[in-house]
Amino acid sequence: MSRQIIVAENAGFCFGVKRAVDMTVDYNNKNDSKVYTLGPLIHNEDVVRSLEEQGIYQIDSDAIEKLNPGDTIVIRSHGITPEIKEQIKKAGAKMVDATCPYVSSIQRKARKYHKQGYQIIIVGDRNHPEVIGINGWCNNSAIVTKDGSELRDLPDKVCVLSQTTEKQSNYEKTLEAVSGQGREVLAFNTICNATRERQSSADQVSKIVDMMVVIGGRHSSNTKKLYEICSRNCSNTILVENSSELPEWAVKDPEIKKVGITAGASTPDWIIDDVIKKLRGIEQQDMNGNKTAAGAKATEDNR
Ligand code: SF4
Repeated sequence: MSRQIIVAENAGFCFGVKRAVDMTVDYNNKNDSKVYTLGPLIHNEDVVRSLEEQGIYQIDSDAIEKLNPGDTIVIRSHGITPEIKEQIKKAGAKMVDATCPYVSSIQRKARKYHKQGYQIIIVGDRNHPEVIGINGWCNNSAIVTKDGSELRDLPDKVCVLSQTTEKQSNYEKTLEAVSGQGREVLAFNTICNATRERQSSADQVSKIVDMMVVIGGRHSSNTKKLYEICSRNCSNTILVENSSELPEWAVKDPEIKKVGITAGASTPDWIIDDVIKKLRGIEQQDMNGNKTAAGAKATEDNR
């Protein structure tokens, strides 16, 4: 059996997540203080476990007041509200702010246009930490919408922002809904390029393969969106957190000749490589009855 593996471009760690992990590990290596992350640093259990092995544990916001002065807390790439920043200061803890610069820019817009009297509308998931954080910068006054369909009776001035990992189509639907109401509309497409590019390459690859493997955390919103996009194009789309979750049929079915792979922003390269290796290993056994390098020739790695 010859099986081709196509890795979608921009699969895996984005700039902001890589920066947050690097900042945390680097700080921990260079400092003696106890280092905590506010919530899981990224939505990937393997990475969180690896951080714990280095002595970096997550806490939630209720535990901030119990921090000892001199402890360090890392703000993850999603960012936080000004209130939580204030709590950390009060606790006397040091702060490593790994908020992604793209998210900080949205927070600044929310604050600026809220002060100018605009109603802030955020296209995204109201329970997502990034959205909760952004909302904090406009005094928790934002309207959070999935696709604008429920928006009615808006005030005269509105400013539309989006969660960085939102689907382009939801942003566009919201703009349509808002513009249809004839208001003074300021709109910033703040969907991150990394997300757009990852979604677009996943979309393309999933159209031409027999099976699509999406690798990422089940709680990761950008991974779930990749899964949705790929499922629309390829009914044989599966979501796995790592290679151990690959079902046997997915690696053994001889009818699956072309496999596409993409991965969410919180998936490190080593997990993607493990999945590829597992797919290659089975393929090589099928081809030769034992493991040889022959299978690698049929493999295309576009990463
Ligand atoms: S997806 Fe974009 S905005 Fe979000 S952390 Fe990554 S680079 Fe930053």
